[in-house]
Amino acid sequence: MRNAIVVGGGLAGITAALALQDSGEWNVTLFEARKHLGGRVSSIKDPKTGLELDNCQHSCFRVFEHFLQLIARCNAQKAIRFQQKTSISFTNPNNGITGKLYDSNLKPPNHMVKSILKFPHLKFKDKLAMRKVVKKLSKMTEEERLQLDNVPFKEWLIENGQTNLSIDVFWGFFVLAALNISVEKASTAQAAFLFRRGLFGNNDAFDVAGFTHHLSHIFENEITNTLEDSGIEIHKSTKINSLKWNENKCIGVNTSSEEYDADIVILATPHHITNKLLMAGPSSTKIICEKLEKMEYNSLIGIHGLYSKKIVEEDFHFTALVHEPIIQIVFNRNFELDDEINSNIKQWLSVPVSYADTFLNNTNEELEEEYKKVIGKVWPEHSKFLEKIMIIKTPKATFSTKIGSTEYRPEANEIIPGLRLCGDYINTNWPSTMEGSVTSGLMAAANVLELNNWNSDEVWVDWPKPPRRGDKAWGKF
Ligand SMILES: Cc1cc2nc3c(=O)[nH]c(=O)nc-3n(C[C@H](O)[C@H](O)[C@H](O)COP(=O)(O)OP(=O)(O)OC[C@H]3O[C@@H](n4cnc5c(N)ncnc54)[C@H](O)[C@@H]3O)c2cc1C
Repeated sequence: MRNAIVVGGGLAGITAALALQDSGEWNVTLFEARKHLGGRVSSIKDPKTGLELDNCQHSCFRVFEHFLQLIARCNAQKAIRFQQKTSISFTNPNNGITGKLYDSNLKPPNHMVKSILKFPHLKFKDKLAMRKVVKKLSKMTEEERLQLDNVPFKEWLIENGQTNLSIDVFWGFFVLAALNISVEKASTAQAAFLFRRGLFGNNDAFDVAGFTHHLSHIFENEITNTLEDSGIEIHKSTKINSLKWNENKCIGVNTSSEEYDADIVILATPHHITNKLLMAGPSSTKIICEKLEKMEYNSLIGIHGLYSKKIVEEDFHFTALVHEPIIQIVFNRNFELDDEINSNIKQWLSVPVSYADTFLNNTNEELEEEYKKVIGKVWPEHSKFLEKIMIIKTPKATFSTKIGSTEYRPEANEIIPGLRLCGDYINTNWPSTMEGSVTSGLMAAANVLELNNWNSDEVWVDWPKPPRRGDKAWGKF
């Protein structure tokens, strides 16, 4: 048995640690600077209601196969429920018109066509033009996709005949929600990945998941228990201050008071911290540092509305809001309410403000006003029962998928002796998502285990398979 140290207890670090420990070849020690595992999937407790409120809604889809494998490996399937048919509702708050995008039995990428044709927020000429881009995206080779990294997605859409309306309501909406960046700034390579793998990928790829508990609950319970049961030694509240080097080889880590040696160190910290830790290392780390220095972050703001009375229908899960530039989706979080704790809160709504960089300086009062205005258009009665609004700003939420960003993302196989890197920012093709993080953790583990034939598009064979529609171990809605 050899010793591995994993630095960072976010999804990437947890995954790498568990995959290595599961191999039976490595003894893993995991260091996390904060009190809890989970990293950017975090929550705070509201002292007044006892509710755990997450930093922002974490959306999950059936296409997040590695993330779902991790959930299944940790026996946390009960925390996630899936749509049994993709259905994404869009409401125009100004006239109340609602439409849905849903899949049919047609083969991808045509499985969404029927719903697009009936979609009330687009005109026939918008839909006709969209067919061209859907076809082009599905025919694109990987090489062609990557060549579009320096092209802003909006420019590419216009070149390919897309109308302003379809860019606003359709393409721009998905880019903002999933890439956390505007359609003007987004890399076409990254946006093309999103649509090819997601909405126009497998028929079930975009089935939306809903949670039955806030996600941090899973980290504190099922995930922590699984890591401990597997034999991983976890040091929480333990910050790694520097890496230990023997010339060009990383041989361990240092906290403020102790040194720990290892045969391999896996650095699963966010890219700006990885950069800081590597900068103090030998000159061989400089090539990676130069890339990391060019990476940027985009922000997210989570707004939670807590009410004394139910204001949405029982079976309402979420809706996108068309033509709303700031508040673009509303989620009903009542499925996560714990009756015993939150007896006086009968309605929990949450909205993510995506690509929130320009709103970070807005006061909470200004953001509250915007929330009340937009929610009031859809549910005019809501303000009568509004108890509290909580706002959580995360400036460094996701790495930026702006034009040209792919070339700055280090490859998983960029090897520094004794050291491997993982984290959502590694070039997994995925944008900054839970799936990207878990995939990067598996890539690092595969690298250490010398599983040279493992392809990161494949499932991790040692772990339970990801859920398909109708899988009884997972809840549905
Ligand atoms: C508000 C918000 C909303 C999001 N919404 C979604 C969504 O809807 N869907 C989705 O898929 N993704 C979403 N994401 C992105 C997703 O959460 C991240 O991509 C993912 O969690 C990153 O995981 P990671 O392990 O790569 O990094 P992190 O989660 O950042 O983990 C790194 C860990 O390293 C620890 N650390 C740092 N320095 C040290 C040190 N010196 N020593 C020890 N430990 C250290 C940190 O404390 C942290 O726990 C969202 C992110 C945010 C912030």
